[in-house]
This record gives sequence, structure tokens and C-alpha cells, in this order.
Amino acid sequence: MTYQHIQIPASGEKIKIVNGKISVPDEPILGYVEGDGIGPDITSASLRVWDAAIAKAYNGARKVHWCELYMGEKAAGIYEGDYFPSETLKAIEDLTVSIKGPLTTPIGGGFRSLNVSLRQEMDLYACVRPVRYYQDVPSPLQKPEEVDVVIFRENTEDVYAGIEYQSGTEENKKLAKFLREEMGAEFFEDAGLGVKPISPFGSKRLVRKAIQYAIDHGRPSVTLVHKGNIMKFTEGAFRNWGYEVAKEEFRDYIVTEEELWDEYDGVMPEGKILVKDRIADIIFQLLQLRPAEFDVLATMNLNGDYISDAVAAEVGGVGIAPGANMADHIAVFEATHGTAPKYANLNKVNPSSLLFSGVMMLEYLGWQEAANLINDAFPEVMKDKTVTYDFARQMEGATTVSTSEFADALIAKINQS
Ligand code: NAP
Repeated sequence: MTYQHIQIPASGEKIKIVNGKISVPDEPILGYVEGDGIGPDITSASLRVWDAAIAKAYNGARKVHWCELYMGEKAAGIYEGDYFPSETLKAIEDLTVSIKGPLTTPIGGGFRSLNVSLRQEMDLYACVRPVRYYQDVPSPLQKPEEVDVVIFRENTEDVYAGIEYQSGTEENKKLAKFLREEMGAEFFEDAGLGVKPISPFGSKRLVRKAIQYAIDHGRPSVTLVHKGNIMKFTEGAFRNWGYEVAKEEFRDYIVTEEELWDEYDGVMPEGKILVKDRIADIIFQLLQLRPAEFDVLATMNLNGDYISDAVAAEVGGVGIAPGANMADHIAVFEATHGTAPKYANLNKVNPSSLLFSGVMMLEYLGWQEAANLINDAFPEVMKDKTVTYDFARQMEGATTVSTSEFADALIAKINQS
């Protein structure tokens, strides 16, 4: 494949898919998209920390060959106004694993979110957000150390499928007439209309990925989150299809909550994963009051959107929460916050969200030693209270440092370890 503007590094090798699994060479070529706004600041800082951790962990035996890919405002400058170049999509597929900074979505008509477009074009059907507490990070909870969840949020269906009909348009009137006259639906005049599709295919592949993750990472439970008491044929169906996948495809690994009480008297059998479900409203309360009861959460799109940010707030906010959008093999890791345009190029913001997305990426590559070095260095830097402005305003006696100085502090701890 030849590219117009993307330069695939001459050294390093591409990741391959072998027997349905990713096969990572010692010197893989990985893609990165700087992103808009604060993107360049957090990307340059994070690249230095990832490279330092890899160098320390493997002493030169492993190395990433980074390949810059373009999306958003930087792409528009290079590709004559094209914010979403098709060759970037091709490269994301070709390289299998990439990481990206945040991208601007201008508000108003005619411009679809680049993030949503990317997820849909590449069929990145699972948005994965691990949320855990790091010692000394400011938190509003009394026991933030009990928060350790991984949220699997469906990316391609639900209200994010974008099927909406504006009040007053011909399409809206046509659909309203059909719903009223042929389906017997009742609703107010001139209501805007949206359709929320939830399929067995979309639900099952998401829940399958969540359960497989729980198996691979020794997680004790998977909770299906839904509002099935109100929307039985979408939210409730997601729950039912989730249990179907669990019982049909993972029978030897799982016990449902119903089985736990009917067959095991409430005592979890050794080595099994508990599959349970909770209604979306109560889970917001439970995740604050009894977070230790939850491990892996599988959600539809909108519920997962709210829950991801709410849980992130419990352990330091979106400035620190990592994330990834994944298909079966292709994975795009990303900062979960936006472009914070007022801080662009000020070298000021917290790079931790992107940084920990990179830690997820290292784990996905199987480079756990490098991931651990960053996970271990971070609390050391927190203990010194050497932090960016966002944490400093929640900590007493902190030293406020810039984005790049925060990276320097981490690298120093990594190299000392
Ligand atoms: P935002 O960029 O996330 O910023 C909101 C606030 O969050 C900031 O003003 C800042 O709070 C805080 N914040 C965000 N990132 C931070 C960081 N790294 N370190 C410290 N604090 C951080 O949200 P927005 O202003 O609503 O959205 C701006 C643009 O980003 C929009 O175009 C939106 O569409 C886009 N967006 C992109 C993505 C993505 O690419 N994945 C996600 C969300 C939004 P303080 O002002 O209190 O310091």
C-alpha cells in the first residue's frame, strides 16, 4: 500500500493477525494521531514516557517505530480541507494498533463527529474504559481505592447510530404519520423523532468481548447495564442477549446471578465469573456507594457514555481516564477528554488520560513490564505532589508543573526504578 502523505517508517514491522490473535514483533510500527487543541502537548509528553518505559523494561530488545497519521485540523491543512482522510483509515487498519489525541467537533450542522465517524467507519464496536484509583490522586470518594472497573460500551448502535428526524421536516411528518396511524403510537405534535436500534448481533459481540476480557484478566464479574424495566425490546433485549451469549458460549466459565442463588446457595463456585445485570439508574448509586461490587461492565452506548464519565470523576476526572475503541483486532487507544481549546499549546494540561491509554496499549501488545513501570512511577510522582494545574487545585501543598515537566518527573521515576 502506498500513501500520499503518511510515511510508514522504513524500519520496524507491522503487527500481524495469526490464528485469530494479534502477533506483535519486538519492533512494531504503531500509528499515532496528535489530535487538535491540547493534543500536540499531551502527545509529545506521552510519547516520551512510553518510549522511556519500553527502553527501561527491555533494554533495547523492544522498541516502537512510531508512524504519524493525520486526522482533524492537522489533516485539513495537509489534505486540502479533508479532516478525515481515507488513507488514515487505511493505515489504522494496516498497522492494527494506533493511539490518538482528542479531535474537535465543530457544533452545528454538516459536520459529523470525527470520533463517531472513526468508530463507525472502522467498525470499532467496543469502547473500553478501565477506571482505577492511583494512590494520592484527589478523589471525592471516601474509599476511592475500591474503584476498579472496566467499562465495555457498545459503539455502533443505540442513539449514537444517529437516526433522527428533525421536527417540522417532511421525513419527520412521514414517520410520525406512520407511527400514529399504522403503529398506534401516541406522542405530542411536532415531536423530534429518534430511533434507537439494538440488535442481537451488536449486543452479543460486545458482551462476548467483555466476558472474554474478564476471563483473560481474571476478573470476577461481568455486569450487564440496562434500562430494561422501561424499554423492554431494546434495553431489556440487550440484557437477554447478553445472558444468552454468556450461557451459550461461556458455559464452563460463568455462573449467572440467578444460578448463584438457585444452585449454589449464594456461594460463588471457585474460579467462575459471575454474570449479573443492574438497571442503569441504580448502578450510578451503587458505583458510588459500593464500587467494590463491580469489575467489568457491559453497556449499550448512551448508558455507557454517562457511566464512563461518572466513574472517571470518582478517581480524578477525565484528565486521567484512559480509553480505547476496538474491533476484533484493530484497536485505537485514545484520550477520553476533548481538545480543551482554551489550553491549546500552553503546555499546561494533564497528559494522564492519553498516557494511561498508552498503558492500555502496552498491555494489549503484551508488554506488561513496560506498562507496570508507568503504573508504578505514577503514584510516586503523585506522592511528591508534582502535578499539573487540574490536580494542584484539589491538593494541598502541590507543586504545579507543565505537561512536559510532568512527563519529565515520570521519566525520572521510571529510570530510577
Ligand atoms: P474538553 O475538551 O474535555 O474540556 C472540558 C474541560 O475539561 C476543560 O476545560 C478542562 O477543565 C478539563 N480538561 C479536559 N482535558 C483536560 C486535561 N487533559 N487536563 C486537565 N483538564 C482537562 O470538553 P469540551 O470543552 O466540551 O470539548 C472541546 C472539544 O473537544 C469539542 O470540539 C468536543 O467535540 C471535543 N471532544 C473530543 C473528544 C475526543 O476526541 N475523544 C471527546 C470529548 C470532546 P477546566 O477548564 O476546569 O480546567
